[in-house]
Amino acid sequence: MKEIAEKHQFYSFDAQGMEPVERVGDGDIVRFHTQDCYAGLLKTEQTRREDIVHLGPPANPTTGPVYVEGAEPGDTLKVEVLAIYPGDHGTMRVRPSVGALGDAVEKEHVRIFPIHSTEWIDFDGLRVELRPMIGVIGVAPKEGNWDTDTPYQHGGNMDNRDITAGCTLYFPVHQPGALFGLGDVHGQMGDGEVCICGLEMAATVDVRLSVVKGRQEAWPFWERDGRWSVMCSEKTLDEAAKDARYAMLDFLKKRTTIPNDELTMLLSLIGDTAVCQVVDPLQTVRFTLRQGIGQIAF
Ligand code: CA
Ligand code: CA
Repeated sequence: MKEIAEKHQFYSFDAQGMEPVERVGDGDIVRFHTQDCYAGLLKTEQTRREDIVHLGPPANPTTGPVYVEGAEPGDTLKVEVLAIYPGDHGTMRVRPSVGALGDAVEKEHVRIFPIHSTEWIDFDGLRVELRPMIGVIGVAPKEGNWDTDTPYQHGGNMDNRDITAGCTLYFPVHQPGALFGLGDVHGQMGDGEVCICGLEMAATVDVRLSVVKGRQEAWPFWERDGRWSVMCSEKTLDEAAKDARYAMLDFLKKRTTIPNDELTMLLSLIGDTAVCQVVDPLQTVRFTLRQGIGQIAF
């Protein structure tokens, strides 16, 4: 298995100029070692932002990018998330005026939580189960330069807590080799990520990278046990939610024989609109089918 060391980091998904650190074959399993979103710089609960801000790049170091042989513009990169191995601790930080509860925060505050048995943390006497997920994951975009704080059609900082081991993701390939990377793993996170952090942790992630030739959707898709979902990011949740329901309708129109109006009924029956996050530069909504509806291939 090829491994990508955590020292191979990037801070923007860029349509031009992303230099691959490794080349892998179609169908290869690849292990990514990631740092937490603070680049491992919050080493103690006494560390403050002004102590570390001069030390380097902004948040969300992302491991990669990896060039996938055979992936060309117009294709889709299929990413099976096989395993997420959490680090030995998780870190959280709140600051006044930052995030969707920032007005309630009195002062900058850092907490570091040891991880017990990779299954839970002790949050001041409250046992909080872990559910490791990937915050930043994606490919080189069609155009522009998207920092790793910002989600969009290339993926990026979507902070979807359903991106856990066992799911499969589909990203539109716009640059040769796709140029895939991931980072910003959370041990746990609530929908919304209201304080602009989850349980931030270094981690090791195994994925299988495959190419779906000649098929592409505009937005990243997700699948687990025959349940499909799409993730859309826009300036407002309303816009993101609208993108997501129409993207799912369009996806199913191309892949089922269900007539248009019945499809809209079905989405009203079993389509769940949910918030991924409300704190990144663009906000992310997922639209997920609650159950499978028969054989659907990407
Ligand atoms: Ca994030
Ligand atoms: Ca994060």
